[in-house]
Amino acid sequence: MDIDGQTLAESVAELVRIPSVNPLHAGPRAEEHGPIGEGAIALRLAERFDKCGADEVVLDEVLPGRPNVYGRFRGRSDRLVVVDVHTDTVTVEHMTDPPFDGRIEHGSVWGRGALDTKATLGVVLAMLDAWHRDGLRPEPTLLLVGSISEEAGGLLGATRFRPWAEQQGLRIDQMLVAEPTEFRPVHGLKGLVLIEVTARGAAAHSSRPDLGANAIEAMAPVIAAFVAEHERLQSLPPATELGSGTVSVTRISGGTGGNVIPDRCSISVGRRIVPGEDPGDVLERMSAIARAACPVPCEITSLLPLRPDGKPGSPAFYQRPDTGFVRFLARASGTDPAVAPFGTNALRYSGLANELAIFGPGSIDHAHQATERIAVADLVRLADVLGAWLSPA
Ligand SMILES: [Zn+2]
Repeated sequence: MDIDGQTLAESVAELVRIPSVNPLHAGPRAEEHGPIGEGAIALRLAERFDKCGADEVVLDEVLPGRPNVYGRFRGRSDRLVVVDVHTDTVTVEHMTDPPFDGRIEHGSVWGRGALDTKATLGVVLAMLDAWHRDGLRPEPTLLLVGSISEEAGGLLGATRFRPWAEQQGLRIDQMLVAEPTEFRPVHGLKGLVLIEVTARGAAAHSSRPDLGANAIEAMAPVIAAFVAEHERLQSLPPATELGSGTVSVTRISGGTGGNVIPDRCSISVGRRIVPGEDPGDVLERMSAIARAACPVPCEITSLLPLRPDGKPGSPAFYQRPDTGFVRFLARASGTDPAVAPFGTNALRYSGLANELAIFGPGSIDHAHQATERIAVADLVRLADVLGAWLSPA
């Protein structure tokens, strides 16, 4: 069945018009349009799921006023597939366009979230709605997941959905995590360990450095050691298409005045990790590098929230590109499988489904910008691919 572009565009536009800025991206412009966060869109999605014939709709409060929303649409078989879409968006404070007008103009739907990542949600809902009205059902049973807090705050919605699915005893065959991938099924993402290293020196008058311990100067060899670690990683043969791990020192702070020997200096260090690396082992290695290089006492803390298993950081996500689902999505879209440098909810879903791919229309290169749009032609193309996957009859 073909659903026309206008219907798809209006379905996406309706979601764009419901502001769902991540609370960590709050600002005066976002707040002008009502309460911040994913609460309003979750309630609206629950209504739309109902209207499209869901046989079960669950609002799962992750944080006060910020629920995940799950809708199950019974298929003609017991095979279970999941589409996960994060409901939050990034900030709108720098936008040069009305952020939530959801206008359909020049062949695109405009507004925050249109590309990242309400497009897939709008298309799936338009398809389910049309099928429901025609008395059709998808072949697999579909669980549609709207998850909070992907853009900031530590993948909290995905972190919550996983144990929910496990408690329900769900056996998920295929899982699609919606993100703009230009219709390429993404089968690998680097993981992340992010730490703060703080050197503790001793303050003194700057005319008498011998009486103090300069924490900023102490950090210099630590930074050099992390640069050397990055170079060492580049010399290792990559195990997968994701290439090598990387180390980047991304932030530094310290010092109290021009005439004071600084007693404290902190840096943030990000380590992108590849398949086969354990975040806990990487964290230990990073800590050992800092301690060995730092001439004064130093403290190391993880800047990422703990995973449900109580461990810090995220392992990489990786699945071979020749699995059935990845090959199907590539064939149906006329694209090739790919890996991606950015993080997504998939970092929480390793092993949850038999097969998983990150997939969606539009390019991540255009996300989070001063204007945001998704082409209606891309919505039509997505409906074709998802229609072939879910095959109503
Ligand atoms: Zn996204």
